[in-house]
Amino acid sequence: MSSNPLLLQFSTTPLDTLEGTHARLTQTFLSGKTRDMEFRKVQLRKLYYAILDNRAYIYAALKADLNKPDLEASMAEVSWLEKDIMTTLKNLDKWAADETAETDFMYKFMKPRITKNPMGTVLIIGPFNYPVQLVLVPLIGAISAGCTCVVKPSEMTPYSSAIIKRIVDQLDPECYAVVNGGVEETTKLLDLKWDKILYTGNGTVGRIVAKAASKHLTPVILELGGLNPVLITSKADAKLAAKRTAWGKVINCGQICLAPDYVLLDPSTETAFVESFIKTMNEFFPNGTQDRDNYARIINERHFDRIMGLLERTKGQVVFGGKSDRADKWIEPTLVKLESLDDSLLSEEIFGPLLPYYVVHGGLPEMIQHVRTLGDCPLALYAFTNDEKEKQLVMNSTRSGGVSFNDTIFHAAIQSIPFGGVGESGNGCYRGRSSFDAFTHRRPVITQPSWLEGMMGTRYPPYSEAKIKRY
Ligand code: NAD
Repeated sequence: MSSNPLLLQFSTTPLDTLEGTHARLTQTFLSGKTRDMEFRKVQLRKLYYAILDNRAYIYAALKADLNKPDLEASMAEVSWLEKDIMTTLKNLDKWAADETAETDFMYKFMKPRITKNPMGTVLIIGPFNYPVQLVLVPLIGAISAGCTCVVKPSEMTPYSSAIIKRIVDQLDPECYAVVNGGVEETTKLLDLKWDKILYTGNGTVGRIVAKAASKHLTPVILELGGLNPVLITSKADAKLAAKRTAWGKVINCGQICLAPDYVLLDPSTETAFVESFIKTMNEFFPNGTQDRDNYARIINERHFDRIMGLLERTKGQVVFGGKSDRADKWIEPTLVKLESLDDSLLSEEIFGPLLPYYVVHGGLPEMIQHVRTLGDCPLALYAFTNDEKEKQLVMNSTRSGGVSFNDTIFHAAIQSIPFGGVGESGNGCYRGRSSFDAFTHRRPVITQPSWLEGMMGTRYPPYSEAKIKRY
């Protein structure tokens, strides 16, 4: 047990309680309690203050689980959540309002509108890398939409999962619950009938989730990973590209679904890119990266060995970094020049601080061909170019969950645009309004006036030539 009073003890939720929790939340949903708009807002405010009150505990948990620096914990977990709740509270009435449908003159009398109905009792399953944010941002969506919800954080971050439980326990227990545990608990949860599941994690488990959901025809949002490319063309500022790519690679020690996985660069940019990458590392980490203040650690030995295995098997040449310490789960940010695209470093999502690059002589069209071969639908695509035609070419000839031009990661920081993947990197999206939409059923409704029967009568059999002509 830790002696740090800010670290809470993780405990696995007993398996034999899961069905009861599910039944209780389903019952609450059916009672209509969470449909009340004022109730939803109160729960969102409670969540806001629970996060605020537990800031120090969250930072301590993230430090213990991942050695996540406080600035990263604030920027990408705690402040992120607080902003999301505030935006939701500000806009919820507008998002939840009925929409009037555009229609013909005659149908106007039926007052067609789209109402926003909560999906029901939903399940959120999260991963280890942003353990707090990646379950609580979807929870904001579930609460705001009027759903009841079970949150299942990753068992690989026990301290974060314990603080998530403490936070969610401050909400109405009839409506929201945390289940802590691993494969056994998640498997049991997946046996139950949910009205929607949002899963964030790797594609292998994503398939297990989708298969389990299909048994009940439950709709699923899958937030997965993939190999995110960085393209640096001859029209790019290569020094800036190196700095911004390096930042995207080192935060959370590369354990981000949006981290750059490989760089394809024009030969004219190589020297500036490499020099700037090394200079940036020295500027970011004047005391090196084993200094625990500014650089996170790999989540566990299994992932450490997996990442180091990729590095050991590469046929490329390490041009910067390469050092590691298994006991400390530390891997130095490492730049590798590839001689071929048939390399261990391109065989799977790296999810660690290794950055392979490959020099492409055929310009942007050849880079795009390589992207298609290496993974047609990454979660993010990054292209560095100052040429508008090149940007158009990238947009028109590639697919990805999202795109940042001349930066990495940052399109996902804009709250008002949806976040999600496409194809192998997932389906569905959330964030801000999209989180509300993710757990909302757009339910159309009309009211047919009885006095319209004269006009509506033409639809009834027997069908005459005159009636057919009217349609
Ligand atoms: P993880 O190992 O923590 O697993 C994610 C969740 O799946 C956990 O809650 C875990 O308990 C559950 N799980 C694991 N095995 C299971 C099984 N056999 N059956 C049922 N549930 C099971 O995290 P991870 O999957 O390794 O996370 C990293 C991956 O997540 C990367 O591929 C990354 O790209 C992706 N990711 C995607 C996003 C996104 O928003 N698209 C965000 C973060 C991470």
